[in-house]
Amino acid sequence: MKRKGILVVVSGFSGAGKGTLMKRLVQKYDNYALSISATTRAPRPGEEDGREYFFVTKEEFMQRIAEDALIEYACYCDHYYGTPRDYAQKHLEEGRDVILEIEIQGALKIKNKYPDALLLFVMPPSAAELRRRLSGRGTETKEVIDQRLHRATEEARGIEEYDYIVINDDLDTCVEELHAIITAAHNTPVRNEEFIEKMRRELEGEK
Ligand code: ADP
Ligand code: 5GP
Repeated sequence: MKRKGILVVVSGFSGAGKGTLMKRLVQKYDNYALSISATTRAPRPGEEDGREYFFVTKEEFMQRIAEDALIEYACYCDHYYGTPRDYAQKHLEEGRDVILEIEIQGALKIKNKYPDALLLFVMPPSAAELRRRLSGRGTETKEVIDQRLHRATEEARGIEEYDYIVINDDLDTCVEELHAIITAAHNTPVRNEEFIEKMRRELEGEK
């Protein structure tokens, strides 16, 4: 029976290490397809259009919404972010696990639209370590860091909506944990209904 891809949502406070973790996960295991979002925020030094994000203007973003080309979108700290429909659809159909690294409002929209999606939340080991990582990344101003930490307090209220939390203390351990959770999710009954039905029919035939 063909393996079905899982839509995996990964959220977490800004600076928790999601981007770093996802890069390692897709480098290490080849069954993952990492979706590239569209955003209206400016590229950070080192980011490339079409690699980390599709960097678009607000008008282009609105156009994509009008064309129903995004499966979800949200406004986060004054910028729009959204998930292109085509990429996720194509790779899920091919049986790959598609990873959406998105914030909580988008995650909840996905949960509503795709009840089979697996929702994971990445946590730093402590709030002090989160601030250290955000500042250490050196890509945001003090104001933006404060805005993102404030946003983290709001996001922390929604964590129970997720299926699992993973603590990103040691990077490699966390990558393995993420991989183990996604692997195990393939074996839940709801994701294997076809096989279970086939087995039931066969058992009926054996009577
Ligand atoms: P996010 O995508 O969640 O905003 P990043 O992946 O950009 O976070 O990580 C924020 C910063 O923390 C980066 O400088 C990254 O190198 C660092 N970092 C990520 N994971 C760890 C970890 N396990 N231990 C120490 N530093 C980390
Ligand atoms: P950053 O600016 O740090 O790259 O991303 C800010 C936040 O936007 C992060 O929480 C990230 O997960 C989220 N994000 C990135 N792409 C998307 C998307 O397509 N949709 C939604 N809803 N959030 C996204």
